Amino acid sequence: MNKEDLMEHLIKGSYIKSLSVEKAFMQVDRENFVPEDEKGMAYYDIPLSIPGAQTISAPSIVAEMLEAADLKRGMKVLEIGSGSGYNAALIAEIVGEDNVISIERVPELVAFAKMNLEKAGYQNVRVVHGDGSRGYPEEAPYDRIICTAAAPKIPRAWKEQLKPSGVIVAPIGGRHFYQELVVTKRDGKGGFREVSLGGCVFVPLIGEDAWPEY
Ligand code: SAM
Repeated sequence: MNKEDLMEHLIKGSYIKSLSVEKAFMQVDRENFVPEDEKGMAYYDIPLSIPGAQTISAPSIVAEMLEAADLKRGMKVLEIGSGSGYNAALIAEIVGEDNVISIERVPELVAFAKMNLEKAGYQNVRVVHGDGSRGYPEEAPYDRIICTAAAPKIPRAWKEQLKPSGVIVAPIGGRHFYQELVVTKRDGKGGFREVSLGGCVFVPLIGEDAWPEY
């Protein structure tokens, strides 16, 4: 599989639906965000190992989440779980580099994501170290919060840090098994409406308002 094959698969499979997400996938080379020995697999629609015993998610679920987030240029986005930095780069392509803050709990991955983003030409995407289950109050409020690790429930801080009419996209469910991709929309009056987009599999969100470390 090369990049063109992957694009065709993502479009034909309706994982990519919008021009903005298609352009972002065209622009960002996944091979720049995986370890050297995984580069040959970069354009397969599968998760791959990255340092810290974590993963870069499969492109199809990444595309599904970006479509669900309905991103527009200029929106301020908090990504939780920087991992490789790949998803942060895709988000930056749509909303603009200055509008993306990505938070990661594993210091090794903060360095990995920063290195990959810089090498790929993204100088202004901010990758910060911390526990994303508490959101990132320093830069709140956000138009969108996209979490790429599975939480037992939507943490209170995310709702508090979301703008009116904002959207949270996150896998919610068990620590190691069944999770659902949940889209949570805030209405103008401060209420929240949740819609499930179906089953998914993610590594756990580990933090104060998520799963304990063990
Ligand atoms: N978005 C990433 C990418 O594009 O490569 C993939 C993310 S990986 C599936 C999930 C990431 O969430 C891991 O890097 C993990 O260390 C991180 N994580 C888990 N709990 C976290 C927390 N409380 N705060 C921030 N990051 C967390």
